[in-house]
Amino acid sequence: MTELALMTWMDVATQAADAVLLVPLGATEQHGPHLPLGTDTTIATAIASRAAQQAGTGSPGASASGVFLVAPALPFGSSGEHEDFPGTLSIGQEAVELVLVEVVRSASRHVAAVVLVSCHGGNHEPVARAVHQLRGEGRLVTAWSPRWPGDAHAGRTETSVLVALDPGHVITEHVAAGETEPLATLLPRLRAEGVRAVSPSGVLGDPTNATATEGLELLDAAVADLLAHLDAVRTALLRRAGDADRTVPTGANPAPPSGTGARERRSPSGEPISPQEAEP
Ligand SMILES: [Zn+2]
Repeated sequence: MTELALMTWMDVATQAADAVLLVPLGATEQHGPHLPLGTDTTIATAIASRAAQQAGTGSPGASASGVFLVAPALPFGSSGEHEDFPGTLSIGQEAVELVLVEVVRSASRHVAAVVLVSCHGGNHEPVARAVHQLRGEGRLVTAWSPRWPGDAHAGRTETSVLVALDPGHVITEHVAAGETEPLATLLPRLRAEGVRAVSPSGVLGDPTNATATEGLELLDAAVADLLAHLDAVRTALLRRAGDADRTVPTGANPAPPSGTGARERRSPSGEPISPQEAEP
């Protein structure tokens, strides 16, 4: 079992010291007239769950061993640019950052590492700031996001993934092209006036050719990429344990305590990912 919310504390206690906790980060925000408000949360949860189940199975790209658990998804994000659309629930960047810092601090009492699986672009900055602060505290935390090509929001990419994951909640008769200008061109106005000023339907892209086949391919690619990331995290954990064995006197607890002291003892190569990977 990998779902934290379905486990008891005793289940977790038997494996948590080595466990890596995946925290899916979503949003509750408009995704056009054809996709549900919880689209990002659905996607983040699906990718995290699939990766956790496949990790350690020995299949190609799933070599990382050990326990991977999936926390309940955070269903709220920083979605201010979508707030002109009914149903959007945004908690803003500061709240996202604070929630992540506290959740990871709490998780770090019992698990070895935390991976934030972020599938909402609006969370980019608070996620990066939270990771930066937590790593400064000596915690092993990373952030990962899917690197999908394609349109920006509720277009072909996200619609294909939703058709693959949850076709019953895609309203096909509402599927229509939105604003298809490149995001870079739209960004200044989008930031100043919000998405609704740029695209009355809320769609940035063209979902009309979305298919379940393409959605499955995108999902598989994302899960493989996350599995490679988990491999790197597991390698960093092993390296950290090795460092601790060499630096902690015999008889002492080899597990490095959290805090800056532990961080200073660790070699720079103990960091699992490069800074740019920590900032999806
Ligand atoms: Zn989305």
